[in-house]
Amino acid sequence: MDFSQLPTPCYVVDEVLIEKNLKILQGVMERTGAGILLAQKAFSMFALYPLVGKYLSGATASGLYEARLWAEEMGDVKKENHIFSPAYKEEDFEEILKYCDHIVFNSWRQVEKFGIRAREAGKSIGIRVNPECSTQEAHAIYDPCAPGSRLGVTLQNFAAGAEKGFMPDGIHFHTLCEQNSDDLEKTLDAVEEKFGRYLRGMKWINFGGGHHITREDYDIPRLERCIRRMQDTYGLKVYLEPGEAVALNAGFLVTTVLEIVRNETETAILDTSAACHMPDVLEMPYRPPLGNAGIPGEKPFTYRLGGPTCLAGDIIGDYSFGERLREGDRLVFEDMAIYSMVKNNTFNGMPLPAIAIRRKDGECKLVKRFGYGDFKGRLS
Ligand SMILES: *Cc1c(COP(=O)(O)O)cnc(C)c1O
Repeated sequence: MDFSQLPTPCYVVDEVLIEKNLKILQGVMERTGAGILLAQKAFSMFALYPLVGKYLSGATASGLYEARLWAEEMGDVKKENHIFSPAYKEEDFEEILKYCDHIVFNSWRQVEKFGIRAREAGKSIGIRVNPECSTQEAHAIYDPCAPGSRLGVTLQNFAAGAEKGFMPDGIHFHTLCEQNSDDLEKTLDAVEEKFGRYLRGMKWINFGGGHHITREDYDIPRLERCIRRMQDTYGLKVYLEPGEAVALNAGFLVTTVLEIVRNETETAILDTSAACHMPDVLEMPYRPPLGNAGIPGEKPFTYRLGGPTCLAGDIIGDYSFGERLREGDRLVFEDMAIYSMVKNNTFNGMPLPAIAIRRKDGECKLVKRFGYGDFKGRLS
């Protein structure tokens, strides 16, 4: 099967492209001894977990379900399973202890509530800190260092908890989003300045996610210097938990043109929706790459591409083409593996896209199709 035979809409994740990313990450692990984990919240396509597990140290979860998914899908293959949540629920915690090796807390109160139990179960315990060092202007809603942030313990709050004498095994920070290693370096300066005195005697430090390691212009040697700096100065094991970097530019969303409507501009209505199938296009926001289409006006025929929902703003973007679009044409959006299938929804009763893998030999294998039952199943 190739792209033209897939049902649409359909996410296709390319094994070769994922593996290319995984090899880059593996290189960092091998040269530095750091542990790299998949942040499942960006990419939970478990059909590919065995491949991910071949290269990375393990995965990290935002809660019980992701932790369980990794544990279930890796089966007997022993891989690390980390978790961070702003607040754990009592009824989840016993099961979390079953799956996870590292448990990261967001406040001293959470440590007080769950820390002893986690330690008795032999878990490594961490606390997330807020180094109060904003390095991003582009994505304010993704900045956990913004004033009033609920994510991570500031130095002031850290010191108060530390006085009570409960020392975690490690600290975790997550402050970046699609950033390069110069911003990591800046963040590390703040982490050391504020928390350096607590790091001696700890076992590990987790640099969180947001490292765009597999992007062309990413400065890997600088990342490796950052890792070595924490290893050499404090004797810590270093973890990174990228989500995006694992599946960056490794997936597609194949869609069909259903209709063209004309009102000042020409809009092609597709069988995929920004709001339902690529919500980050609206939330982030960003314009997904699309095959060899150009920016508006660059090629002879410019179209707005929109979804079939009722939302007026369900617009993917304006693109230009060498030829007129026609009903039945297929379009292939790129960079659709990350934050796509994990965030999709059935607003307007929209069907969920099927999921396929493009294998190494170029053949596409459909691994999942969804139907009416999936829409109805999450309502009552
Ligand atoms: C979102 C998140 C990640 C992954 O971030 P990416 O931008 O996908 O690399 C890792 N750790 C934590 C705590 C996160 O919230």
